[in-house]
Amino acid sequence: MKIGFVGLGNMGAPMARNLVKAGHALKVFDLSDEAVQALVDAGAQAAASPKAAADDVECVITMLPTAAHVREVLVGENGILAGIAPGVTIIDSSTIDLASVKACAAIAAQRGNTFVDAPVSGGTGGAAAGTLTFMVGASESVYEKVMPILLVMGKNIAHCGETGMGQVAKICNNLVLGITMAGVAEAMSLGVALGIDAKVLAGIVNTSTGRCWSSETYNPYPGVIETAPASRGYMGGFGTDLMLKDMGLATDAARQVRQPIYLGALAQQLYLTMSARGGGRLDFSAIINLYQADTIPRVPE
Ligand code: NAD
Repeated sequence: MKIGFVGLGNMGAPMARNLVKAGHALKVFDLSDEAVQALVDAGAQAAASPKAAADDVECVITMLPTAAHVREVLVGENGILAGIAPGVTIIDSSTIDLASVKACAAIAAQRGNTFVDAPVSGGTGGAAAGTLTFMVGASESVYEKVMPILLVMGKNIAHCGETGMGQVAKICNNLVLGITMAGVAEAMSLGVALGIDAKVLAGIVNTSTGRCWSSETYNPYPGVIETAPASRGYMGGFGTDLMLKDMGLATDAARQVRQPIYLGALAQQLYLTMSARGGGRLDFSAIINLYQADTIPRVPE
């Protein structure tokens, strides 16, 4: 297929690379020339704008930081809607709020295009391996149409309901993730302070009832999991500011439906503290710095 791809960051770049590897013809755009060049080296064609990326393609995919970026890329002067043909589907895999999804879908519909929310889970490792989970908000027929494209980048493609329900699933998943990461960081720090070896403790948790993705795959203590950001100075991975954004999406959504989220509100303050101390670009597992500042790399102040 001919596919336009906008947003080649930690997630978008490996996702786009998997589409190229599978034989699709990609037109790619990012504000970073370096990011575009890396994809061109992998076999994609560079586009000069989102509009150019959307020109003469059968599908457009966006993977951008926030709702503001998605709106800009969609409706901006050289945005996707300025270049796309009617009937072409736009798949947005960014994590954004429900109201923005509905607004983008309504604007796209006026132009004869379908806007699908398909946020992902699985991290940069899942993006590189092509094993992401996609949470899709779309009608049954649109879901069937986008499924084969998503299967190139992921292995679990879930239909969550109508437009916006993919984001509801994603926001709730990341609410759990933000809380469990803080919990694992707290427990690892306490254990080490009490004298147990970090790997021994992680091994116990991971075969006991405390087991979760944050402890098993992405443990925040350095050296416990060699492939986790904690073992490379918290570089790459899922940025603290993005987790802070997701905590904000959850608390805002909760307020709108008057549904309390006690632990989410507390976790939001922890990630906010990290970010305010200059750690916003570090992987979110660096939250352990709040507990363990003497023994592992500190968040720059
Ligand atoms: P990132 O910051 O690494 O990448 C975003 C990319 O978008 C950058 O390359 C940036 O240059 C580009 N960009 C920004 N504005 C643009 C514009 N106007 N036009 C073109 N390009 C533009 O972010 P990421 O980690 O890849 O995350 C992207 C989305 O996926 C976010 O919504 C995030 O919450 C979500 N997400 C991330 C992860 C993860 O582990 N990193 C996991 C699941 C979901």
